[in-house]
Amino acid sequence: MTLSDRFRALPPSPTLAGAGRRAAARGRVLAASVLLATLASCGPSTAGGPPASAPTNAPATVVVPATTIPADGRTCLTGALTYDHHDAEAGTKGAERLTTAVARGGTWELWGRLSTDGADQLLASGVTDDGGWFRACAGRSGQLTEAHLTFRSSGGDLWRVISPTGGTEYAFDSARLRDVAGNRDLGTVKVPADRQDAWKIVDTVGDLYRKVTAAEGPGSRCWTRHQTTGGCDELTFTWAPDATVGGFWEPDTRNVVLAGEHTASRHTILHEASHWLQFELYDHWFPDAPGCENHTFDVATTPGCAWTEAFADAAAAYVLGDYRYVYPDGQDFDLHNDGATAWDRGDAVQGRVGGSLLDLWAADGPDGGTWDRTVRLMGEQRSADFRQYFTEGRPRAGLSTTDAAGRIIADHTIAY
Ligand SMILES: [Zn+2]
Repeated sequence: MTLSDRFRALPPSPTLAGAGRRAAARGRVLAASVLLATLASCGPSTAGGPPASAPTNAPATVVVPATTIPADGRTCLTGALTYDHHDAEAGTKGAERLTTAVARGGTWELWGRLSTDGADQLLASGVTDDGGWFRACAGRSGQLTEAHLTFRSSGGDLWRVISPTGGTEYAFDSARLRDVAGNRDLGTVKVPADRQDAWKIVDTVGDLYRKVTAAEGPGSRCWTRHQTTGGCDELTFTWAPDATVGGFWEPDTRNVVLAGEHTASRHTILHEASHWLQFELYDHWFPDAPGCENHTFDVATTPGCAWTEAFADAAAAYVLGDYRYVYPDGQDFDLHNDGATAWDRGDAVQGRVGGSLLDLWAADGPDGGTWDRTVRLMGEQRSADFRQYFTEGRPRAGLSTTDAAGRIIADHTIAY
């Protein structure tokens, strides 16, 4: 299975996705007759094209009765998975920040019974696609006397969110349907409010995964080239809505630990995930980072601390396409600091290093507008600090250290 296959394991037909978008745009439910024609085939679609992709995320509103039987006689449940969440990236206000998003990359399982006295069987599994859509078709033909979906707070076998007390993934079931045949559209399925942020983590981490694997290239489904498909390391978050301790990556357990409110910020989710990512890129090694108990953007700590925190800051901002760190309460910090004189100076300052990385990866920067070659070189060479990355890693990877790159670090008060 290729990387892209994983996220398009069972894509909605482009027609259905397009119809969903149009329905949402018009603010009405589609007439069933429009969609019945589009639902005529429910096999493992190989139809290409990205599905409805809405990162800012209006939920789908398509509701269609099931009357068609796929040519292969299989039973399929379709729909879109969404979750409500507090959106710190949208600002500091309170209730207005509650919004709805589509849940991408989340695990679904189709369970059903083949006869009235039969037992529940797992009939298929997959992950929601880039539009939050699922198309869950039983692996064999025929009517199901009972069918439902179980949604889990994981992105396949590559990342998951578990309860700190139970140690298990969050999950919930769709309605149980009786005597189902053909296509049955469940419309929009919303994650229950008490666990919705677990799906926000799953959804957000997928953005990091896609940026990392775009840099690493095909060859493995895993996060990095250090593992091969089938033996991937899994990123684990522990989180609970009432958890009061968190906001760190724990090297001993290799888990990211988040407290209840941290999930409001996608930057926070991605920052902590990126500590794990650096450990993975370095093939289970992490730079020595003394002095990191208390760190902030503009105050010097140590080169090791600044390097690890700056990579996490820059990775989060890069994935989200900005230059910020956004706190869970919606306050944000601008990582631009070219020429900032009030900040401490040099490569022991997290914000100096983070701002440099973002400028190197920027669309008008010297690295071709992406972080791809930095990610690849990190997979090949461990760097204890930014100096080693810049002066040893970059030349080995064919990345510039002079001209624009030299000016960027100089503007951030770093001289080698
Ligand atoms: Zn950190």
